Amino acid sequence: MAKNEKVVADPHACTLDKIISLCKRRGFVYQASEIYGGQAGAWDYGPLGVEFKRNIQNAWWKEMTQLHDDVVGLDSAIFQHHTTWEASGHVGHFSDPMIDCLECQARHRADKLIEDFVAANPDKAPGKPIDTMSHEEMKAYIDENIECPTCHSKNKKYTAVREFNLMFKTHQGPIADDAHLIYLRPETCQGIFTDFKSIVQSNRMKVPFGVAQVGKSFRNEIIFKNFIFRTCEFEQMEMEYFCKPGTEDETFERWRKERWAFYLKYGIPEKQLKWHHHDKLAHYAKDAYDITYNFPIGFEEIEGIHSRTDFDLSQHQEYSKKDMSYIDQEDGNKKYIPYVIETSAGLNRNFLMFLCEAYEEENVATEEGTEDYRTVLHLDPRLAPVTVAVLPLMKKGGLAEKAKEIQHLLKEDFVTDYDVSGTVGKRYRRQDEIGTPFCVTVDFDTIQETKDDGSKNDLFGTVTVRFRDSMEQERVKLSDLHTFLFNAIKNYKPVER
Ligand code: ATP
Repeated sequence: MAKNEKVVADPHACTLDKIISLCKRRGFVYQASEIYGGQAGAWDYGPLGVEFKRNIQNAWWKEMTQLHDDVVGLDSAIFQHHTTWEASGHVGHFSDPMIDCLECQARHRADKLIEDFVAANPDKAPGKPIDTMSHEEMKAYIDENIECPTCHSKNKKYTAVREFNLMFKTHQGPIADDAHLIYLRPETCQGIFTDFKSIVQSNRMKVPFGVAQVGKSFRNEIIFKNFIFRTCEFEQMEMEYFCKPGTEDETFERWRKERWAFYLKYGIPEKQLKWHHHDKLAHYAKDAYDITYNFPIGFEEIEGIHSRTDFDLSQHQEYSKKDMSYIDQEDGNKKYIPYVIETSAGLNRNFLMFLCEAYEEENVATEEGTEDYRTVLHLDPRLAPVTVAVLPLMKKGGLAEKAKEIQHLLKEDFVTDYDVSGTVGKRYRRQDEIGTPFCVTVDFDTIQETKDDGSKNDLFGTVTVRFRDSMEQERVKLSDLHTFLFNAIKNYKPVER
């Protein structure tokens, strides 16, 4: 059963609307230019969103570069020479099929229109995979089956299906002619290919090796919907792994396994992920798989893993007239153009996936038969936007000052928050809702050496650490707090749901 079907039966299940509302309410993501009515398909990442997004990016970066001796990093320019995009095939072929409704002029992506219709009407699936349908087949299928989702006209009158190039174009400098044409990059990886020789030479890289890069990409998407899932401006986390021709199949399998394991490592249960094998391959591609995640809107792509042959480097060699081959000293100075395995993940889609997976409206009623819910994000502590919240039991009696002092000591090693307003219970709930894994509560035992009767206070110099997932509490010595928190992060086990 698809996740979105479950929503109807369970009012406490995760839906996209709930995620959007939480993101806005708690400062993860806002509509861009909201004061002007909003810029369609553009989103701003707020104070918590920017921390969370950076944590995901850092986790990926660490995984791909620091944990792999054979992968190095790069940060290439968004603006590349326009020939880059002719060589890569983007000027000629980077397009999506579009179709317009003749009744209301709404523009749709033809393949997605069919995909959405089939998801709702599985018995009416076309006789072949959607990505292998020709323009004429798509048009015939849409004419016969699909009412325009914008005007719902029963007439089903559409234009022919045409290709629409997704690259944003502009001009560099004051002259708007073809010589000054420049594109916003639609993917980050072309900079990796154009810099291939420089990286080999400057860093004495030996094939096989990979180059990783994170950055903004831009696509003039025909439709953007589902919040941050599909937008015109987004971030990609890409890695191109260069290998000797003939070793590409084993290298492809290696990276398929590694990328799958990354998601498990950060708390995505295996049952929420699925492989999608591409039925139709680009002419240069040898194989391609997507990792898809079970979003509340169904299984959708978060990352593509592609076996790209020597296409990219060969194309850049042809267009630039520069030699892109590699001399393999470990194989008798054999000269070849390396083959490439690409892993290409969307940072914003990862953001949405980790939020959806973490979201729970948990029944925390203490008596049988009653209902009391808390909204909690069970985020891995390495990804959570705030790691530790320091909460004085009350403002008075020196507790606020002590809590501030503790927060200050923790700041250098953890992302912290300080909250003094409302009851401690309410503050715990506020932290649960943004996924803070640990709350440190400062009370009178923390600061009083002796009890009211003059006896020694054994709890002096300790704080309460409260765990988000189990809601259990533990008394910890201030002198042990750093180590305690480091260990709790390292030994974190995702909740089973
Ligand atoms: P889709 O089929 O969803 O349009 P794609 O196959 O064109 O995606 P790729 O070109 O393989 O995507 O890009 C790699 C990754 O970049 C995708 O897996 C996705 O996570 C992300 N991505 C691509 N397009 C967008 C977009 N418009 N908005 C947000 N993320 C995107």
